[in-house]
Amino acid sequence: MFRLGICVAHVDEDIVVDLEGLVYPCLAFTGNPIYVKGKLREYGTVELNRKFTGNEARNVWRGKCNNCEFLPMCVGGCRFFSVLEGKGFYGIDCRRKSYEEVVKLIRHFV
Ligand code: SF4
Repeated sequence: MFRLGICVAHVDEDIVVDLEGLVYPCLAFTGNPIYVKGKLREYGTVELNRKFTGNEARNVWRGKCNNCEFLPMCVGGCRFFSVLEGKGFYGIDCRRKSYEEVVKLIRHFV
């Protein structure tokens, strides 16, 4: 259960839960025991283990992306892609070149 417009990995109150009740940072991590961040208990309470927290995910950019104009929408990139690229959950997944190309394309049509 999560809201639109912000990555679920950034908000601890929004959860992705599997059939066993295990909670993950986002859909892409579902089923991977390394990335369990908590457990959904009976009656709907969520017990978090303090790993892979929303606060940590929201702050990976600090000291690395401070001057980037895409920071408000990127916030250091995707947590899953960072893991896929071998940088770990707290790494930077920089798509700056893609963002620049998208902006160029939009400017072309505006
Ligand atoms: S585009 Fe790159 S430099 Fe800019 S906020 Fe995202 S990860 Fe950081």
